Amino acid sequence: MGKATGFLEFERRNETYEPSTARVKHYKEFVFALSDEDAKIQGARCMDCGIPFCNNGCPVNNVIPDFNDLVYRQDWKSAIQVLHSTNNFPEFTGRICPAPCEAACTLNINDDAVGIKSIEHAIIDKAWEEGWVEPQPAKHKTGKKVAVVGSGPAGLAAAQQLARAGHAVTVFEKNDRAGGLLRYGIPDFKMEKGLIDRRIEQMEAEGVTFRTGVYVGGEGFPVHIQNGSRETISPKQLKADFDAVVIAGGAEMPRDLPVPGRELQGTYFAMEFLPQQNKVNAGDVVEHQLKATGKHVIVIGGGDTGSDCVGTSNRHGAASVTQFELLPQPPEQENKTMVWPYWPIKLRTSSSHEEGCSRDWAVATKRLEGSNGKVEKLIAARVEWKDGKMQEVPDSEFEMKADLVLLAMGFVSPVATVLEAFGVDKDARGNARAATEGDRAYYTNVDKVFAAGDVRRGQSLVVWAIREGRQAARAVDTYLMGSSELPR
Ligand SMILES: Cc1cc2nc3c(=O)[nH]c(=O)nc-3n(C[C@H](O)[C@H](O)[C@H](O)COP(=O)(O)OP(=O)(O)OC[C@H]3O[C@@H](n4cnc5c(N)ncnc54)[C@H](O)[C@@H]3O)c2cc1C
Ligand code: SF4
Repeated sequence: MGKATGFLEFERRNETYEPSTARVKHYKEFVFALSDEDAKIQGARCMDCGIPFCNNGCPVNNVIPDFNDLVYRQDWKSAIQVLHSTNNFPEFTGRICPAPCEAACTLNINDDAVGIKSIEHAIIDKAWEEGWVEPQPAKHKTGKKVAVVGSGPAGLAAAQQLARAGHAVTVFEKNDRAGGLLRYGIPDFKMEKGLIDRRIEQMEAEGVTFRTGVYVGGEGFPVHIQNGSRETISPKQLKADFDAVVIAGGAEMPRDLPVPGRELQGTYFAMEFLPQQNKVNAGDVVEHQLKATGKHVIVIGGGDTGSDCVGTSNRHGAASVTQFELLPQPPEQENKTMVWPYWPIKLRTSSSHEEGCSRDWAVATKRLEGSNGKVEKLIAARVEWKDGKMQEVPDSEFEMKADLVLLAMGFVSPVATVLEAFGVDKDARGNARAATEGDRAYYTNVDKVFAAGDVRRGQSLVVWAIREGRQAARAVDTYLMGSSELPR
C-alpha cells in the first residue's frame, strides 16, 4: 500500500482549472493534471483497505489500489501497465469519467475520497509523454475477419482487443471521423480530439482498418441524426464478408419534446448543435452553423449533454443561458451512510455551470411560441412530484425569452432501422437484445452478430462502453477460436 498513515496526514488535492473568464474564450482543455508530487501525495492517501470497493465501483474494474501504490512510489511505468491491463483508453476516462470509483472509496465514508480519476489522468498522460504507449501487434494472426460497426469507445475497445488477439479487424463508421460521441458530441474543452487520433494511429499500427463514411444498415435512417456516410453496406454483405460482426452503433435516438411550437426554427436537438462545434474546432467549414452568439438560450434537460450545451453556448457568447430540469433539485449532500458505496443522487455542478448558467428544477415546458416561424419564447410551468407522479402546480405558468432552445433530455434507444436491417431482436426499451453473461454473452439472436456498448445497454457512460467492448471482444474471440485468452 501507499503510506500507512497517508490518509491521516494528507488532504485530497484536486486538479486545478484555468479561471472560467479565461477558459470560455477558447475550446481547449482547461484542467491541469496533478504534478508528480501531488499525484504521489494523492496515491499515499489510499489505505489499501482490504476490500477495494473502488475496484468494484469502476465498471472496467481498474486495479486502483495497485496503481495508487505505484504512483506513491513513483514507479509510473509499472503504474501504466496496471492501468492498461483493464482499460484500453485511460486518457478518455481520466478526463471525462464521472468516477463512480471515488463514490465507492472507503475514505469517502467520513473524509474526501482518494482522487482516483486524477491519478489515472496523470499516469496515462505521463505514459504518452514518455513514449511508453506503443502498438502491440499480435504475434500470430488467426486468419479470421471481424467487422465492428461504430467507432465509439465500445467499438474502439472491441477492435483493439480483437486485433491484439490476432484477428483482422475492420471498423465501419458512418461519420467522417472515428470516435463516436468522443469525437462528435463531447466538447473539445472536455476532451481534445488529438487524443482519439493518437489511439487510432496506435490501432492502425496493430492492424485495425478504419473505414469512415460507411453506413451499415438499411433504408430509413432518421434525417435529424448525424450521418456523414458516402457509402452503404448491407448487413447481409457484411455477414458474407466477415466471420463475425460487432454492432457498437450507440443509442442515437434523442428524446423529443412533443409540445406545440416544437417545429419553430431555433429549436434543435443537442446533437444537432454540439457536433457542429467539434467540426469547426477540427478546421471544417460548417455552413449555417447553429450559433448561440447574442442569443437567449434555454437548455432543456439537466444532465451531461445539457451541461455541454451550456459550456458551448457560453463559448459562443450567448446573451443568457438557462437550464431547465423536469425532476426536483437533488440534495446538495448525500446521506453517505445510506448510499455508500453506490453512486449517489446529489446536486452536481459542472465546470460548464460554473462558467455561467441559471439552473431551475421541477420545470415542465408547455409550449414554444414565436413569429415568422422562429421561436421567441418558452412557456413553462412548475411541477411537483408525489409518489413518483408529476403534477403541475396550479397558476405556476411563466414565460421566458428564448432565441435558441436546445433539447438535451437524453436518448431513448438505438436507431431501430439499423437493428431491424440486421434482424437483431430488441428488448423492451428498443436496445439490441444480448446477455452479458453465459455462453451467449454479447451474442444477439442473429448468427455471427454481437452487440456492445450503448446499443445494447442504452445511453450510458464511456467507461461502460469500454467494458462492454472488451467483454464482447472476448466473447467473439471464444466464438471464433473455441477459447480466449483475452481478459474478461
Ligand atoms: C453530449 C454528450 C456528452 C457526454 N458526456 C459524457 C461524459 O462526460 N462522460 C461519460 O462517461 N459519458 C458521456 N456521454 C455518454 C458517452 O459518450 C456514451 O455512453 C458512449 O460514447 C457510448 O459509446 P458507444 O461506443 O456505445 O457509442 P457511441 O459513442 O455513440 O458511438 C457509436 C458510433 O457508431 C456509429 N454508427 C451508428 N450506427 C452506425 C451504422 N449503422 N453504420 C456505421 N456507423 C454507425 C455512430 O456514428 C457513432 O460514431 C456523453 C454523451 C453525450 C451525447
Ligand atoms: S475509469 Fe472511471 S470509475 Fe474507473 S477508475 Fe477511472 S475514473 Fe474511476
